Amino acid sequence: APAVFTEADVYQRSFDPQVYLKEFYSLSDSREWATVFLKQNLRSLHKIFSLDGLKGDTLIDVGCGPTIYQLLSACEHFREITALDYTDQNRRELEKWLKNEAGAFDWVPVVKYVCELEGDRDKWAEKQEKLRKKVKQVLKCDVTKANPTDPVSLPPADCIVSTLCLEAACKDLPAFRRALRNISTLVKPGGHLVLVTVLKETYYAFNDQVFSCLRLEKHEVEEAVEAAGFQVKFSEAQPMTMADECADCGAVLSLMAHRPG
Ligand code: SAH
Repeated sequence: APAVFTEADVYQRSFDPQVYLKEFYSLSDSREWATVFLKQNLRSLHKIFSLDGLKGDTLIDVGCGPTIYQLLSACEHFREITALDYTDQNRRELEKWLKNEAGAFDWVPVVKYVCELEGDRDKWAEKQEKLRKKVKQVLKCDVTKANPTDPVSLPPADCIVSTLCLEAACKDLPAFRRALRNISTLVKPGGHLVLVTVLKETYYAFNDQVFSCLRLEKHEVEEAVEAAGFQVKFSEAQPMTMADECADCGAVLSLMAHRPG
């Protein structure tokens, strides 16, 4: 485990989105554990976004990083998406893909996999275009702030999704509980929260850099979600191990919660 907590400024200084994408999201045969991890998360998101009531006008993705996989199932159920992340380079990398610029990451294999889950692999080009059109803005956020998008005030959304962000952004359990309260202000009463979080992980590494991770248990996440004003409707931990040099996670939790209206 890393000796120090890697705070947001470390992400801004040294998180390389292109290496991150290549290491964790390229679905290549040479990185079998990364493929297993990604496909499992895609299946969980597919399952959650198929649940009753998970639809509406607006969706906010908190701590999107440079990735879009977390929006592929979601985009079928919401009209407009706002993506938020702390670092400039991650937001820029995402914009590159949204604008279909040269050098953007190739998400096609991932999009095809999700289309297969949804029953029609041939729809991948259509889905890709749909998602590009639906992401209306990419903004800076800091989950440690009471208003994470300060100085901007976003209208609360029908749903927020956050994958693999809070455990990276929070130093300890009280900070994690605060961050959940902070991001709860981004969702309307009557709306939903979708969370994908690694459990029992203390670090992840790529590009010769180690990032700290808050070591969480399933019940700690569920309690934090409830304390932030949500009712947990679905929560499933699935065992997961990665190569030692990459991460020490024990499981992945996928969770859906409702904020009472
Ligand atoms: N959601 C993506 C990225 C996860 S990596 C995925 O599923 O792969 C963790 C992300 O958390 C990084 O993009 C980093 O910039 C972001 N992050 C770190 N500290 C943050 C903070 N205080 N507020 C918001 N985002 C933060």
